[in-house]
Amino acid sequence: MKFVLSSQNKKKLEEMSRILEPMGIELVTAADMGFTEDVEETGTTFEENAFIKAEAACKALGMPAIADDSGLCVDYLDGAPGVYSARFAGEQHDDEMNNDKLLSLLDGVPKQQRSAKYVSVICTVFPDGRSFCVRGECHGHIGTRRQGSGGFGYDPLFIVEGSDRTFGEYSPSEKDAVSHRGNSLRKLERELPKYLEEINDK
Ligand code: IMP
Repeated sequence: MKFVLSSQNKKKLEEMSRILEPMGIELVTAADMGFTEDVEETGTTFEENAFIKAEAACKALGMPAIADDSGLCVDYLDGAPGVYSARFAGEQHDDEMNNDKLLSLLDGVPKQQRSAKYVSVICTVFPDGRSFCVRGECHGHIGTRRQGSGGFGYDPLFIVEGSDRTFGEYSPSEKDAVSHRGNSLRKLERELPKYLEEINDK
């Protein structure tokens, strides 16, 4: 069975394909199926935005769709940047500008007040109207300087709980084992078969 991924992100496609392929699901990108519309993320929660993206692709293409919405929530900043993580430093964002902004907002803030979590929500929408979301989280705190060159986004600043290293210093497999997206993908792996059984029973 073919599912469409509502994302242009090749890394997300690879990570998700690894888990979905053994379940007999072939993941294709929305663009590969001819759906190139830029879906506006108007929600205020990760769940809403993941649903908006998946529903748009499902409706446009008439096939099951999956979307992931993720971000970083910093306690000292009342959960910011949250759903605005990608565009924290403005619409013309890049990772460097986002990280600079985060460091300057936390300038002088002591370690015990720099706690944060990464969140990944994956939503699946079926043409018959059914949908479900799974959420993965990963806790840690924000460092005072960049460490490591691995990962992407805020990874060089995110020090993983129980370690003194950032995700920028983790290998991809170390990150997958504890990350928010690793956790949401493992939940998807557990939940999805229940929905597939219903489709196969019809
Ligand atoms: P999305 O593609 O709209 O879900 O944007 C997610 C944004 O959150 C990314 O652009 C990053 O800024 C941040 N983010 C999400 N997951 C990660 C991660 O694993 N590492 C670093 N940054 C992340």
